[in-house]
Amino acid sequence: MGSIAVCSVIPPHILRSIAERGDASARRDAQASLDLSAAFRGERLAVAVLAGPPLLPSATRRRTIFDARNATELPGKRVRSEGTPRSNDAAVNEAYESAGATLEFFRRAYERNSLDGCGLRLDATVHYGVRHDNAIWNGIQLIYGDGDGRYFRRFTGAIDVAAHELTHGIVQYTAALDYQGQSGALNEHFADVFGVLAKQYSAKQTAARADWLVGAGIFTRRVKGDAVRSMKAPGTAYDDPILGRDPQPAHMRDYFKTRLDNGGVHVNSGIPNHAFFQVATLLGGKAWDVSGRIWYRALTQLLRSKSTFQDCADATYEAAATLFGRSSAPHQAVLAGWKAVGITLSESVIRRGPRLQIKAAEAFHPPAGGAEVSVEIPLLRVSEGTEC
Ligand SMILES: [Zn+2]
Repeated sequence: MGSIAVCSVIPPHILRSIAERGDASARRDAQASLDLSAAFRGERLAVAVLAGPPLLPSATRRRTIFDARNATELPGKRVRSEGTPRSNDAAVNEAYESAGATLEFFRRAYERNSLDGCGLRLDATVHYGVRHDNAIWNGIQLIYGDGDGRYFRRFTGAIDVAAHELTHGIVQYTAALDYQGQSGALNEHFADVFGVLAKQYSAKQTAARADWLVGAGIFTRRVKGDAVRSMKAPGTAYDDPILGRDPQPAHMRDYFKTRLDNGGVHVNSGIPNHAFFQVATLLGGKAWDVSGRIWYRALTQLLRSKSTFQDCADATYEAAATLFGRSSAPHQAVLAGWKAVGITLSESVIRRGPRLQIKAAEAFHPPAGGAEVSVEIPLLRVSEGTEC
């Protein structure tokens, strides 16, 4: 298994910017948040092994919410379990509900039973640390800070944040993408894809109507920005004197080489993110139905820990052919989507099987006005690829 993604929704470049440019108290909070995230990463947990094997394969959700009471001991005091009444604490209820909505999305859209496909229990801790500026997946559980209240609101309310973090858990049990360089950026990419798809699913939004933003609503009004990332227009999510400017590229020619942030995992994910956006909007309709299914199959069946952007492009192309047929609209849209970000599919994957008419694929025109392309949606086998 590859390295575990210890992911925080607020990427380190934003916190570093606040730690340099903010006032004294904001600087302190940002630096403390950075230090805590670094501590998680340093732990090198053998968590995937710790978390499994699952106790009971079951379709029942098993959520437990804990309260750290502003300390950093995990998991904290248990405050709400599956099926128990609402708490008086909004953060507790939000954490419970966003986790529930995420699990429900994966179950209904992809027949996936929790993170490991086998009904793994799901734990989340709220009120972690003092004004902690992040939501974190540490390989075992979700962790929510309260935010500093100045630049960040509390992180429990946004379903795309919960779904992003929980998708890191799914990646851990499937492709186990190494959290470094391109495979790390793919790890971030899949977390963003299923983060926004969970949001679109719960809001019943089509690709054309969705905002394609990750983490909308976690900045306070003080921040000049809409969200942490934009899949529609990477590099435009925020531009703020204290937080800095969204550094995400949308094309391979702007691929960002850095040693920070595990080789820019939160930066270069903009490239595959935008490819996904292109595919989903070319096809129109509900993005989780067709594009989401292609990406889900690539993640759970085809990719491996060292996969690159090229591998992901080839895998989604192959998945689209398997699910919808060669030369189908989804198959062609995948080709066009990757091409838009500067990635050409491998010769070998194009040559495989019946010859695809590349000319026809390149001439593929999207349906007007975000209308839906008519495709047969195949049924998934229950627990495809998973043995509990
Ligand atoms: Zn992440």
